[in-house]
Amino acid sequence: MERTNTIAMCYGPLDLRIEELPIKPPAPGEIQVGVKVALTCGTDVKIYRRGYPFLTPPFPLGHEFAGIISDVGRGMDRDLIGKRVVTSNGAGCMTCFYCVRGLDNLCEGLEENFDDFTQMGGGFAQYINVKAPIVRQNMRILPDNMSFEQAAMLEPVSVALHGINMADIKTGDTVAIIGAGPMGLLKTQLAKLKGAKVIVIEKNEDRLKEAGKKGADILLNPDDLDIISEVHRLANDGRGPDQVIEAVGHPTTWELAIDLVRKGGTVVEYGGCPSDTNIVVDTKRLHYDEIIVKGSYSTTAHETEAAFNLLTTGAILAEDYISGSYPLEQTKDAIEAHMNQEGIKFAIKPI
Ligand SMILES: [Zn+2]
Ligand SMILES: [Zn+2]
Repeated sequence: MERTNTIAMCYGPLDLRIEELPIKPPAPGEIQVGVKVALTCGTDVKIYRRGYPFLTPPFPLGHEFAGIISDVGRGMDRDLIGKRVVTSNGAGCMTCFYCVRGLDNLCEGLEENFDDFTQMGGGFAQYINVKAPIVRQNMRILPDNMSFEQAAMLEPVSVALHGINMADIKTGDTVAIIGAGPMGLLKTQLAKLKGAKVIVIEKNEDRLKEAGKKGADILLNPDDLDIISEVHRLANDGRGPDQVIEAVGHPTTWELAIDLVRKGGTVVEYGGCPSDTNIVVDTKRLHYDEIIVKGSYSTTAHETEAAFNLLTTGAILAEDYISGSYPLEQTKDAIEAHMNQEGIKFAIKPI
């Protein structure tokens, strides 16, 4: 009898269905994971709301997951079956111009064959076959004392860490973070681990409170005050923060980040804006003020390793980020709870 896989499939904006699909055997170099925990992510919400340029419906969702290896493809060690494991949702080819320079998040293979190197979905399911390049680069066997929840944080922590590394924070610096969604909160905690003073700017009071719990020194609601002068006042004696990280994904907050940073400071535009949007930058800020403006996209194999270490040592705890859990059949409810900001992230537990 053919085995089936219960899986959440997205048919279009706001249309998520639970289906029974046949399980394909893992291809050479792949592993099949029986998913124990999968987490909702802002990217799932974004795709659920408006689709994704590289995906044609119906497609599966869920890319942050951990579980137990249930089968392996040709060329893989069969002793892996039964191992507790986590994988990231992408990998570089490790041979192109960018990969050999350690910039595997910019891998040329991603542009040409996005599907071969990334897995944006399939985690909200009983089983998922993980692609060979991801298995090669970004698979980790869990230590016995590491929970599946803790392991499933690998991708968000590694992506947050990439943004933090782009900011070049030094001990004692003042960092402003715009947005306190899951990523803004992770960046708050990571910036504190770097020894920075952290100012968090967020309109949602509940999220702002969460930022306080994650260690933020100063919490500001931009609705209550003149945000630019207030942030300047609080950072470097009126000069502004050394670094500003945008974690919202809107052109106006991208521009705000540039307005906030001190002369010679660094702006990291992390939040992905809708396609075909633009920002306007005063040339004076770039020229006379020598500000540095960087984008931050995805993460690297090196940072995935560092993130795994942060998680195995408990420097970051999943329980501080997971606000509730749902059975697989209620994946839609979990994504909508995330979308409606009813918590930080939600866990889906298929088996
Ligand atoms: Zn994610
Ligand atoms: Zn590459």
